[in-house]
Parts: sequence; structure tokens; C-alpha cells
Amino acid sequence: MPEVKMVLDSLDRALEWQRELYKELHRHPELSLQEFATAQAIEDRLTPWGYAVQRIGGTGVVGVLENGPGACVLARADIDALPVTEATGLDYASTATGVDADGSTVGVMHACGHDMHITALLGAAKLLADQRGAWSGTYIALFQPAEETAAGARAMLDDGLVAKVPRPDVALAQHVMATEAGTIGTTAGPILSAGDSVRITVHGRGAHGSMPHNSVDPVVLAASIVLRLQTIVSRETTPGEFAVVTVGASNAGTKSNIIPDRAVLLLNVRTYDMELRGRVIASIERIVRGECAAAGSPREPEFEYYDQYPLTANDADVNARVTDAFTAHFGAGAVYQASPVTASEDFSRLPDAFGVPYAYWTVGSVPSEVYRKAVASGTVAQDIPANHSPFFAPAIDPTLGMATQAHVVAAFAYLAQGE
Ligand code: ZN
Ligand code: ZN
Repeated sequence: MPEVKMVLDSLDRALEWQRELYKELHRHPELSLQEFATAQAIEDRLTPWGYAVQRIGGTGVVGVLENGPGACVLARADIDALPVTEATGLDYASTATGVDADGSTVGVMHACGHDMHITALLGAAKLLADQRGAWSGTYIALFQPAEETAAGARAMLDDGLVAKVPRPDVALAQHVMATEAGTIGTTAGPILSAGDSVRITVHGRGAHGSMPHNSVDPVVLAASIVLRLQTIVSRETTPGEFAVVTVGASNAGTKSNIIPDRAVLLLNVRTYDMELRGRVIASIERIVRGECAAAGSPREPEFEYYDQYPLTANDADVNARVTDAFTAHFGAGAVYQASPVTASEDFSRLPDAFGVPYAYWTVGSVPSEVYRKAVASGTVAQDIPANHSPFFAPAIDPTLGMATQAHVVAAFAYLAQGE
């Protein structure tokens, strides 16, 4: 594709300002739905480049560049940071604090690499704006708030995103990961899991700790629920099917000599298949109700579902087209078949709302020699800080250049003239 080369001719020049912007964003991270300065920084750049810019969903920013007939491509970057106190020791490390949803003051860090996503998508947006003669169609650069709380895509949709921008033909997104820098992982089908959190309240009857015969003990009830829940994956799910059911918190009581009147369990569920997800959730409710009945619980249990993430499953055709473009541009050695990751994302809500197919890929960020050494010694899990770690520190080069090119190359699979 000679056109893509023309666009990327000015990549080195773009990378000069991109490196500075990346460090600036990294120094000034903002928590989910509080990305005010970040959104302003994005808007301040897109507008002079000729993008029609709108704020959608509070701190969401969308820039639309219409450039003649042809396909419409929507590319998305998430922009929020995490309540993590940075420990990388980098000279551009964050010392920022913020106030989280509970009102507590917390350290704030771009510990998931969303600053890289912003900078790469802005770079691609600039390169496409500079070389309008090399392509035809519409490019939508969408900057989404609050990925980490699963609230941002929904906020943009609730604010009328679908009616406010042209309907894309395809949607694209990427994520930096603690894999080898200079590589890109793609796959057809599921690449990230669906995620559901459940708050379960079970009721007992409180009593003096010395008089258990007067109680229905919710501590014992919760304990049997926790054990029985383990059978959903081990006994009810077909071996080889993927499901995770984790009890992340089990809380009841305050003192050794008081039997409390309730227990609260916090569960996390991950699946790659929406039908299996439905079965797992039905099993959780059945087991909890059954154990409550067995214990003689005086009231029905309560289930509250929260932090729900949709499945991210790549369209086979879009993935093939994007993967072929990556392979042609970066070489076969740089592109590998990714295994699905058990993490979750809310990106897919956006293409699902438009009813359009999408591809989501991963970009490596750990220097090759460091990564290969850890693989050779079997110490990747201990030695390589992953996303959400206070030590997560993507190598700016070559990661930023790869991620910027990936957005241009993937878009060009649809926008190149003559397509
Ligand atoms: Zn994250
Ligand atoms: Zn992330």
C-alpha cells in the first residue's frame, strides 16, 4: 500500500511531539469520569487539525474528519487512569492524587497504559489529517472516559453518541500489554472476557455468640455457599470451556461473641461465551437460594449486579483484514496469534450500539531483551510488571511508534483509495 507509506513518512516528526505529550499525560493522570484536563488536551489538538470535535458523555471527546466518499472508520482510545500510587521511579512518574468515588484521597497513575492509547490515536489522527490526499472516507477518533469502571462507553451512548456522529462501517481499538515490545497480537473471536461483579446479601438471625440455638448463623451459611460455588466451574462447566467464579470478599460480623444477622459476598465472574455466562449466573443464584433454604434463612437473598463488562469478540473478517495489513506493514515476525485474555473492556458496547463489526488488538510494551530473558527463565509473572501494577512502565520506544502505526495501518485497510 503506497498510500500508507506516504502517511507514515512524517511519523518520526510526529513522534517528537508524541513522546512529550505521552510524558505530560503520564505525569497528570485523572480518575474515571474526572478526565477534565485530559479531555481538554485532546480537544485542543484535534480542533486545529480540522476535526469536527464534540464532547459526548461528559469527558468523552469525539473528532470526525470527513474526507470524501468511502468507508467510515471509528478508532477508540480510553483515557482514564487508576487509583494506584506510582512506584516506577521514572523521571516522568506521576505524583498526582485524586478523590475516588468513596471520597478517599488516593494516588493516581496511568497504570493501564491509557496515556499510550491517547497519544497513539492522536498521532494517527494527525498523520491522517496531514495527508488527506492519500485516503478517502471518514475517520472518527473517539476518546472514551472511564473504561476502568465500565461506565464510560455507556455514558457516551447515553449522551446520544449514535445520533451525533456518522455511522461507522467498522470500529477499531487496541491495548498496550506487558508483552514483547515491537509485537502485535490479534485473534478472531473472543479476545477479552465478559466480566460481572455480584454483591450477594444472605440473611440469618442474629443472636448472642453463646446461644447459637437462637440463631440462623449467616457466617456458616456464607461458608457453605463459598464452597458450593466452586462446583460451578469444576462440576457444571464442560472441561475445556472457560469460566472463572471468584469470591473476592466475604464479610460478616464484628465481634467474636455476636452472631450477626447477615453476610455479604462479592463475586467476580468471567466468561468468553454469553450463553455460558447466563448458565453460570443462573447456577450462582440457584446455589445461593438452595443454601439459604437449607440453613433456614428467614429472608430471600439479594443479588446486585455491578461493574458489568461485555464480551469483546473480534469479527473474523475485520480481524483478517487488519491482521493482513499489519503483517504486510510490520512483517510476519511482529504479528502473532493472541490468546484470549481474562481481563475485560467496555469498548465493544460502542460498535454493538451501532451494530457494526470490530477488531481489538494488543500492542507489546516490554523491551525485547527484558521480555525474552524473563520467558527463558520462566519468570514473566514475577519479573514483568503487568497492567495495573504500580511498576507498570511501557517502553516509550518502540511502543508508541508501533501503536501509532497500528492505528494508521488498520484504518488504511478500509480508507485507502480504490478500496
Ligand atoms: Zn485497566
Ligand atoms: Zn486498560
